[in-house]
Amino acid sequence: MQATRRQIVAALAALPLIGAAAPRTRVVLLGTKGGPTPGPYRAAPATLIEIDGRAWVVDCGNGVANQLAKAGVPLDALARIFVTHNHSDHMADVGTLIELAWSSGLKAPVTVHGPPPTGRIVHDQLAAFADDIAARIREEGRIPLAPLVRVDERANPGGVVRDGGTTVTSCLVDHETVRPAFAYRFDTPGRSIVISGDTHYSDDLVALATGADLLIHEAIYAPAIPRMAGENAPTLADHLRRSHTRAEDVGLVAARAGVKKLVLSHLVPGGPEITDAMWLAAVRTNFAGDVVVGRDLMEV
Ligand SMILES: [Zn+2]
Ligand SMILES: [Zn+2]
Repeated sequence: MQATRRQIVAALAALPLIGAAAPRTRVVLLGTKGGPTPGPYRAAPATLIEIDGRAWVVDCGNGVANQLAKAGVPLDALARIFVTHNHSDHMADVGTLIELAWSSGLKAPVTVHGPPPTGRIVHDQLAAFADDIAARIREEGRIPLAPLVRVDERANPGGVVRDGGTTVTSCLVDHETVRPAFAYRFDTPGRSIVISGDTHYSDDLVALATGADLLIHEAIYAPAIPRMAGENAPTLADHLRRSHTRAEDVGLVAARAGVKKLVLSHLVPGGPEITDAMWLAAVRTNFAGDVVVGRDLMEV
């Protein structure tokens, strides 16, 4: 039986276009140490999602621009920043990253998505660079920075943005007194990626991460909490327990969400005293799937 012209056209339309490869998505852990105190072993929290050469950065701990350079990302590729919550290990360098991207040749707009007071933080951090920005416009012929900076500040969870085949959604997570705190899900043409932000065990996060290809989740090593808090600091120990997720419970989140791969990041404590084997043993109490202990500049 001869195929009709309509059938041939339909069959051709169903084939992938020659040369039109699927957008390449690369996920790189830029910094994997949780908490505000810098350490020699891991950099401050930040994660790169690179889609077809455009850099999206989730959280901007101190040193994020340098970590992007080490990951081989030109700073003028910066397109979007997603802030999970207003703690310094997540937003200390949000304005600095934008300024350094601009002084490295940024010409396209950058949008910062985040909870209140993200807009004020971006404005105030960039204000500290006013003289430098004016000097570089004057001396280096750079275009004005202000028109390139956009802020999408929102207090409520849900749809965040759709961009080039990628959809970003968020949910509220439980970071004790810091509210709102978000987790983000990125459904790209190639992969679904969820980043927990800082949170205690969260059923909302389980729902957001359901069926995801990759879950990057914060983790605290519970047996280390008394030592970190100091023997006479029950308040801090209590805070750490209520605002972060024990590695055992990270495994529970991954198991309940049915994710294909779990990556631990934002590790507390972030030093070598907790070995990969110790982290994995804790997670394995509840999750039998693919799990990786994150390290800086690791592609996951
Ligand atoms: Zn944190
Ligand atoms: Zn936090």
